[in-house]
Amino acid sequence: MKAKRNLLIWGIVIGVLAAAVGSYIGVPSIRRAVDRMASTFGLAGPKEGVTYWCPMHPEIVRKNPGTCPV
Ligand SMILES: [Zn+2]
Repeated sequence: MKAKRNLLIWGIVIGVLAAAVGSYIGVPSIRRAVDRMASTFGLAGPKEGVTYWCPMHPEIVRKNPGTCPV
């Protein structure tokens, strides 16, 4: 009973690690799955309709996060 639960927990841990590593090395299908998971939990990166601006140059509005071009 207890061993079975441990196995399930390890399965989840290994699955999450595999997804993270796959995302890091850029396997497209795993990356898509991780992106979908992230958006489900509201942790996704650049989204449609979201803009980024520089706190020192509010006139600089960009679609993606990054360094200020000014
Ligand atoms: Zn700036």
